[in-house]
Amino acid sequence: MCGFVGLVASQDVAPQIHLALQALQHRGQDSAGIATMSGDGRRFAFRRGLGTVVNALDQADLEALPGAVGLGHVRYPTIGRGVLEDAQPFFYRQPGVLMAHNGNVTNVGALERELAKKSIHLMSRCDVEPALCVFADALMGQRPADHTTADALEALRAVQRSVRGSYSIVAALRLDGRPTLLVFRDPHGIRPATLGRRDDGAWMAASESVCLDATGFSHAFEPRPGEAVILRAGEEPERHALEARTPSPCIFEAIYFARPDAVMGDRSVYEVRLDLGRQLASRLAAKGVSADVVFPVPDTARPAATAVAEELALPLREGFIKNRYSGRTFIMPDALTRDQALRLKLNPIPREIAGKRVLLVDDSIVRGTTLRRVVGLLEAAGAAEVHLAIHAPPVSHPCFYGIDMSTEDELFARRFVQGTPDGEAGYQALERDAAAALGADSLTWLRVADMDAAAPGPRCAACFDGVYPEPVPDVDRDEIVRDRQA
Ligand code: SF4
Repeated sequence: MCGFVGLVASQDVAPQIHLALQALQHRGQDSAGIATMSGDGRRFAFRRGLGTVVNALDQADLEALPGAVGLGHVRYPTIGRGVLEDAQPFFYRQPGVLMAHNGNVTNVGALERELAKKSIHLMSRCDVEPALCVFADALMGQRPADHTTADALEALRAVQRSVRGSYSIVAALRLDGRPTLLVFRDPHGIRPATLGRRDDGAWMAASESVCLDATGFSHAFEPRPGEAVILRAGEEPERHALEARTPSPCIFEAIYFARPDAVMGDRSVYEVRLDLGRQLASRLAAKGVSADVVFPVPDTARPAATAVAEELALPLREGFIKNRYSGRTFIMPDALTRDQALRLKLNPIPREIAGKRVLLVDDSIVRGTTLRRVVGLLEAAGAAEVHLAIHAPPVSHPCFYGIDMSTEDELFARRFVQGTPDGEAGYQALERDAAAALGADSLTWLRVADMDAAAPGPRCAACFDGVYPEPVPDVDRDEIVRDRQA
């Protein structure tokens, strides 16, 4: 998962991009970068660093980034590594293009081999680099300089033909003799992208609307799947429909990744999470789960926990406090240190817990390791019973589109079921087995139909129902798995 920003304005954009990236920090903390292009489109500058935005980029970096068109990126690697050479944005010298993306190119190996046949070699393991090379190569194949919008659209068709997987791309280059921001989504529109306008004529493209809010932009529209949008300061956007297939925006954005104050597909993420909570409350009531108090696992599960508490007429309290300042914890050698690391991040409030039948609401279970320890903390604090309620269906299939869960073996639900549970009896058997494995008195997941009722409309929900927007060939799956294991 990553986040991008693109900005075209009439003054230097780097400081604004720096602000916008901080609003996207939740989408990646491994590296951050900003790149800009001069007004004549002939000079490029970029700065990238490891860590969060404020750690990776300082004032001196911003002063070294002149230009009224620029890109920014925060990265959480799902392909490649958390090293500086994999940090985005990327730059290609001919004809001079900056590019950043959010997504997962699933055929990096095949692209690398194809590009090598043309003596184009990659310098990183980051999956935007081959997409950038394909785009630049296709552009240069049409003419050596003075590229037009029509040239860029033809080059994007080449990207669509050869690049598989999910990609929401933002690029800066000179087109039709003018500095231009280009936004482009894969044919299914799997990863999000939104555009905003400001009164001074500036345009911003971003992974989430929260960037627009932070920098004074108002929401304009979301590019459609397979759509390319040309943005220039003070002008209306040019929209070009390229190849589009069944719209499949990632449902996990609304469940977990996106900030609750984001708006996606005209719906507030907060509102969707409330509706997921209402569906969950119906499930819990039908199952006859009773409790004294509802706790969210902070922070993502709070809206759904609020709705569960309201619907079941139970008090909503905080059983855990999340430490906002704890950094990344590295692989822990022993169980004691792992437990201490968890407590550093999530500390229980024993007086809220002791003697109570706790209903703990969480957003999803991917590997189950943290939730097992959270149940242990509740037991140690004297909870009389622990009931788990998850505001998503069981994650029972890997994701190849930019979320860090690409192998079946790592998924908690796969220990008990080989795919999506088979009917209501299958769900109930899974819930019993999973609750026992986590040490809880009960566990309730949403059904896929519950999720669809809360968030109707086109979606990718492949990690829940196993229906991928496109078949992912075994060769691509194997390559992704090898990359993750490396
Ligand atoms: S498989 Fe799941 S996480 Fe991946 S894009 Fe689809 S819905 Fe999102």
